[in-house]
Amino acid sequence: MYYPELLEVIDKTGAKEAIEKIDKYFAFLPNRSENIITISNLANRLELDYSIIGVILKYLYELGIVDKVYIAICPECGREILISNQKELISKVKELDYCIKCRNEIFIKSEDIVVGYKVIKQPEIGSVDIAIETSKLFGSESHNFNDEDILEKMFENHKENPNDFFYDPSEVEIEKLKKAFESLDSDYGDSTTEQGKALEGLMCDLFNICDGMHATTDIRTPTNQIDCTIRNDYFIPLTVYRELGSIFKIECKNEPAKKPDNTYYHKLHSIISGNKNDKEQAIGIIASRLEPTGTCKTLAREFFLNDRIIIINICDKDLKRIIFEKANLLELLQEKIQTIKNNISTDPDKHKLYRKKSSS
Ligand SMILES: [Zn+2]
Repeated sequence: MYYPELLEVIDKTGAKEAIEKIDKYFAFLPNRSENIITISNLANRLELDYSIIGVILKYLYELGIVDKVYIAICPECGREILISNQKELISKVKELDYCIKCRNEIFIKSEDIVVGYKVIKQPEIGSVDIAIETSKLFGSESHNFNDEDILEKMFENHKENPNDFFYDPSEVEIEKLKKAFESLDSDYGDSTTEQGKALEGLMCDLFNICDGMHATTDIRTPTNQIDCTIRNDYFIPLTVYRELGSIFKIECKNEPAKKPDNTYYHKLHSIISGNKNDKEQAIGIIASRLEPTGTCKTLAREFFLNDRIIIINICDKDLKRIIFEKANLLELLQEKIQTIKNNISTDPDKHKLYRKKSSS
């Protein structure tokens, strides 16, 4: 890293790839201290998600790597006409009644002001390296800040899915999941424990792929053995991390011929309700081979309304989508949680609110 402080931001956000791109970009940015960066031009240039960049820039500002500037855009011609720090912004804007670029009389309102950033810290890299790398990176491309189409770019970039940053399994990981999935039906003889462990292991591996999550099968309480417990370190707006809370539990039932019923739901519900207060939302997952019986959905809805416990199910059908069709696990969780919270009865394949148009 050219900015070693960014390692801390990787720990906090998990957005490793995005931060590495930004690290390199800042290090080789020509006229670093003169160049004004905005969330939208950075998102565009580095092909990253608008909201992720926003979060990262906030951290960079706290770390003193960037400073905030305010850019006034002419409401008539859409060009950048003033750059100011926060202190002088109001007084400067008040005086700004004429655009030097389009020569119109103007009146600047708050929506004409965009927040930008300046890189104020030098990277840990020599000037010769900078010169070499800069020419490689940018070629002859112009990198002037262009303030046109800011809104359009914002909306374009919002379309990209932040969940893809945090759940991005490698080929090796997918292969491992495929093997684990196939092993669910191996011959375990009389050992139901071994058979159960196969599904527990698969769930653990799956959740360990998510940035910021740590899954284990080794947690007991004085009264219960929890099949799989997941610690979640992130609270990320626009993603399901926010819904999941700091810890959640999975009960695994590797029973190829038995549908999970109300008993399983009640058991998990009672374990969870002993570990939270009234106001907290908590998520529990029943991992099974078959879909639960019809009454489980109604029960899950009741649990949610009564005490904010949301029990969802992941079964073979879902695992196949995740492992073989490369659906995003976080997206699937979001779909399942929101379905209960909003009492959605439409088939997710039909409303596609949480599914990519290309898949299925
Ligand atoms: Zn103008």
